[in-house]
Amino acid sequence: MKAYVLHGINDLRFEEVDKPEIKANEVLVNVKAVGICGSDIPRIFETGTYSFPLIPGHEFAGVVEAVGDEADIKWLNKKVGVFPLIPCKECTSCQNETYEMCSHYNYLGSRCNGGFAEYVAVPVWNLLELPEQFDLRQAAMLEPASVALHAIRRLDLKQESTVALLGLGPIGTIMTQWLSYYGVKKVMATGHREEFGEVMKQTADAGYCFANAHEVDSVSWIKEQTGGLGADIVIDCVNNSESLSNCLECVRPGGQILMVGNPHGDIQVEKKIYWQILRKQVTIKGTWNSSFVHRDDDDWHMVIRACEEGKLKLLPLISHEMSFEELHKGLDVMREKKEYRNKVMLVSET
Ligand SMILES: [Zn+2]
Ligand SMILES: [Zn+2]
Repeated sequence: MKAYVLHGINDLRFEEVDKPEIKANEVLVNVKAVGICGSDIPRIFETGTYSFPLIPGHEFAGVVEAVGDEADIKWLNKKVGVFPLIPCKECTSCQNETYEMCSHYNYLGSRCNGGFAEYVAVPVWNLLELPEQFDLRQAAMLEPASVALHAIRRLDLKQESTVALLGLGPIGTIMTQWLSYYGVKKVMATGHREEFGEVMKQTADAGYCFANAHEVDSVSWIKEQTGGLGADIVIDCVNNSESLSNCLECVRPGGQILMVGNPHGDIQVEKKIYWQILRKQVTIKGTWNSSFVHRDDDDWHMVIRACEEGKLKLLPLISHEMSFEELHKGLDVMREKKEYRNKVMLVSET
């Protein structure tokens, strides 16, 4: 089969490799759509994967082409979504079914072979059965949509909460859709690209406001929007020293801050800003990955249902649709940041 194999940092080769052999409890998924995640960029070009050679790609969906000896035959020819985290099922987090915090997990696309390939071996435990008509490009976005939902569910959220989101980008735009899903009326987002603001208005709520962070001072703008008080909830999708300071300055007393973005360096806060955590008695929350526990109310099943009900619109997030052969072009779009890009998706015909 054809696959993109990472042989070392910044050494991704499109080559012919053996089709994966499936174990008894695995199925062979023929990948039909795979998205490039923001985290794939540093993984491929800066930090590398846990071992080499390895096939990256963790946002994928496809059709089951073969099933292992112990796998239920019902999966054969089924369209499936894939939860990429393979938990150890032994640690305390796993015993509590908070697999996203597993301390010895495996991961399709960063610790074992993932979706930038024609075929992937996937444990049955990680499969999500999809409705017959489900669009597989949409299915390849179940992961970021679940990550966004997981983040929102960490909050103590009310419909009348005022929510500020700093750094509106791919995950942020999905988060605004979930805020709208939960009936939140006032959302103020800042970012560097107007296009994300447009996507938010189109897919979440036309009444949500966007300000270009190149043109306004985020803190004053949010204060202005909230009558000088500050927002009940501030979501940090940037996560650097400046954004954390901004969060602490524009959150209202007694408010919540949710940390979503991955930091790229150390984060420092001035003493007078740090003091706001204490004086305002702020609650700071983190979020990591998403929850998948084979129940109707876990993040992944909620995403599938919301897509089916038309309450979550993922297809408008695809800014670049490419063929499976064009991964390098897609990675360039993501890296160069010259043009607007939201979800870059590779779609396979075979
Ligand atoms: Zn991802
Ligand atoms: Zn575990």
